[in-house]
Amino acid sequence: MGDIKYSLLGKTYVYDNDDLDLLDGYEPQKGDWKDGAFDDFKKNIKTLYYNDQNERCAFCRKIINFEGYTEPLEHILYKDRYPQWMFHPKNLVVSCDPCNGKKSKFNSLVNGCSLNVFPIQPQYFVTLNPHLEDWNHHLKLKKGLFFIAKTVKGLKTIEVYKLTRSDVIHHHSKFKRINKESLAKKAAKLAYEVNPNSNNYMTIMNSIDAIIG
Ligand SMILES: [Zn+2]
Repeated sequence: MGDIKYSLLGKTYVYDNDDLDLLDGYEPQKGDWKDGAFDDFKKNIKTLYYNDQNERCAFCRKIINFEGYTEPLEHILYKDRYPQWMFHPKNLVVSCDPCNGKKSKFNSLVNGCSLNVFPIQPQYFVTLNPHLEDWNHHLKLKKGLFFIAKTVKGLKTIEVYKLTRSDVIHHHSKFKRINKESLAKKAAKLAYEVNPNSNNYMTIMNSIDAIIG
């Protein structure tokens, strides 16, 4: 089981010859993602990022089940809105199914960006792109359990991927062998440290309710 902290900087997947035969000069269209011709590309990029992400989701850091392709490749810039970057290696990370689903069609691209060239400057992203910046620059797993933002982008990432979800807290508490009562106390203490007017506060409280039952 790998470290929570990780970095994809400088580790971007490089197209092999088979990928280049498929993708060089190709303009991806909506729906291409499911075309079986790209299965090998998807398998190769997923294997690389799974290892570089320490076998965990790029965002919530839950351990990923790699067997059977049950967990998805997440498009940081949504593939139906930006089909031109559907197969761009810096637009893809391995995520858990709930993070992929919560983010859904949220547009992570800052307005006014060129739509011809994939942006490789972090300031063009509203949420974390782990290929351009490290996870631990923006996010922290406080007490190994609860997400805290270190930056505005970290806060937006928590909101968009709903990182204060109860399944995330449950997952991390299981590996820390924390029992329900102790978890509830820690959660309550944390809730006091969060701005009570924020959405974050409400999601933490909902998670606590779900855990305590
Ligand atoms: Zn996740």
